[in-house]
Amino acid sequence: MRVAVVGAGWAGLAAAVAATRRGHAVTLYEAARTLGGRARSLAVPLPGGGTALLDNGQHILVGAYVETLGLMEQVGVLLEEVLWRMPLVLRHPDGTGLALPAWPAPWDAAAGILCARGWRWSDKLSLLRASQAWQRARFACEPSLTVAQLTAQVTPRVREDLIEPLCVAALNTPGERSSAQVFLRVIGDALFGRGHRGWGGSNLLLPRQDLGRVFPDRAQAWLLAHGAQMRIGCRVEALRRRAGGWQLDDDAFDAVVLACPPTDAARLVAASGVEAGPWLATTQALAFEAIATVYVTGGPRLPLPLLALRSGPGAPAQFVFDRAQLGGLQGVLAFVVSASTTDKDALEREVLGQAAALGWPVQPLKTVVEKRATFACTPGLQRPPAAIAPALWACGDYVEGPYPATLEGAVRSGLGVGQRLG
Ligand SMILES: Cc1cc2nc3c(=O)[nH]c(=O)nc-3n(C[C@H](O)[C@H](O)[C@H](O)COP(=O)(O)OP(=O)(O)OC[C@H]3O[C@@H](n4cnc5c(N)ncnc54)[C@H](O)[C@@H]3O)c2cc1C
Repeated sequence: MRVAVVGAGWAGLAAAVAATRRGHAVTLYEAARTLGGRARSLAVPLPGGGTALLDNGQHILVGAYVETLGLMEQVGVLLEEVLWRMPLVLRHPDGTGLALPAWPAPWDAAAGILCARGWRWSDKLSLLRASQAWQRARFACEPSLTVAQLTAQVTPRVREDLIEPLCVAALNTPGERSSAQVFLRVIGDALFGRGHRGWGGSNLLLPRQDLGRVFPDRAQAWLLAHGAQMRIGCRVEALRRRAGGWQLDDDAFDAVVLACPPTDAARLVAASGVEAGPWLATTQALAFEAIATVYVTGGPRLPLPLLALRSGPGAPAQFVFDRAQLGGLQGVLAFVVSASTTDKDALEREVLGQAAALGWPVQPLKTVVEKRATFACTPGLQRPPAAIAPALWACGDYVEGPYPATLEGAVRSGLGVGQRLG
């Protein structure tokens, strides 16, 4: 079949690879000049001249991303070269918090909880009791529950040091508004599951090259080597039904995969006149959350490549990454603000204040605010299915699936559609 994939984020690249492997003639359209979508590299001018390759947003992968890591290997990525793997660590600059040992699950989580620094026994016991209850319930719960309701029994310390950071990192939605069902799925896979190659599901995999080199560049090389066509810098403007298939602008295809974000996919589908009312209504009802990454220079070497931060009013960042330890420039730190609600200038000022309060007198380098970073992962949320109309598919992190808006959610969705094409 002649298959068009619209959008070369991680979902579109996954769909294109899967469809090519099944023998289809694939054409991949990407509106931007750079592949990777929300997880792409970004060239940033440096104050002293020259440019640095940073990321559109600082990303983390975990060992539980089995589909993503498997696909990366299929297209020739050497995981050890592009990712720094370490057991889950959520330490604060003052040394308190959680650090799992390099043991198999679930012993790593149990030992990490028992040895957490700065936690009282009541904190540790509350979390052990809660995690046993989640395990007994096979990481399932009422779809209407929020994470705050699910974790009401754990102590405030555990909620502040572990639950809330994990929740905003994985679901990009604060605990009082986020889905306990999706949170439990992530916790079950990450903290208690086995990951790719038998790694701990909770192992942190931190990119140590720019995101382009972590996957999109390799995927592009693989696709070109296997005969796929790439239309980079080419925005698809119109989708129309034609006899036996679909028309994209001037080109005819047997099947089309919309791998663009939900608003773009909905715009193309609505203008096509195809009967897809329920799909459109579900897609158009999605709400979004922002993520901001504040890159600064002049930072110290941190004790670890990633530290958790105590966030609150006036101190919005939940995590800070030491880019020098991740193959980047000396002194460049990336502060991450998930579920961000503040405007760019105010946010940058607040993050600089947060850094100064930690004794780090840093200067701003680049602040990236992705207003529609992810869909808001709220309880009972309806997500649109992959099938829109005959031979018209959607894939992306927002499409129906067990995962929140993550690279793994995007890749699973892309691979799934690639396999369903026939
Ligand atoms: C700042 C930030 C931090 C994040 N951190 C993490 C993290 O740590 N871990 C994690 O797992 N996930 C993280 N995520 C989420 C993750 O990046 C996304 O879930 C994932 O990249 C979504 O991929 P996608 O392919 O579904 O969509 P996208 O990446 O949005 O790709 C869609 C592509 O379609 C293209 N497009 C749109 N319209 C058209 C058109 N008409 N014609 C042609 N092309 C079009 C766009 O240019 C884009 O390249 C983060 C996201 C952001 C923004």
